[in-house]
Amino acid sequence: MTNAYVYDAALICEDCAQTVQGADGPYGDGGGEADCPQHCDMCGTFLDNPLTWDGYAYVADAIADGHGNPDVLALWRARYLSECTARLVTTADDIDGVCHAWSHIRAPMRTSVAQHATQGSNPYER
Ligand SMILES: [Zn+2]
Repeated sequence: MTNAYVYDAALICEDCAQTVQGADGPYGDGGGEADCPQHCDMCGTFLDNPLTWDGYAYVADAIADGHGNPDVLALWRARYLSECTARLVTTADDIDGVCHAWSHIRAPMRTSVAQHATQGSNPYER
């Protein structure tokens, strides 16, 4: 798990925390669950944090739009796509917004999740 530090109201990575005075931390899981993927404010390193459902929707929209750094979008996709799918299978939360957002990438999410539930295999692995 990636540790994050807080310095001057910004999240930074462990390497950068060692280059400054007075960084708070470490905070596990990249600073904890957030509404978007967290990157180090100093060097841009991905902090590998868990996401809220709003966070998954944010990532799905970003990937679908294709705006921003392609390397970063690929990183987010690799990190969160299968995890989001796995959580959709087991959650009882109201996640229509997330399903809609991800359906722009892998349509239709609802059907895929239902198939997973009946077949017992995750279509997004491998
Ligand atoms: Zn850094």
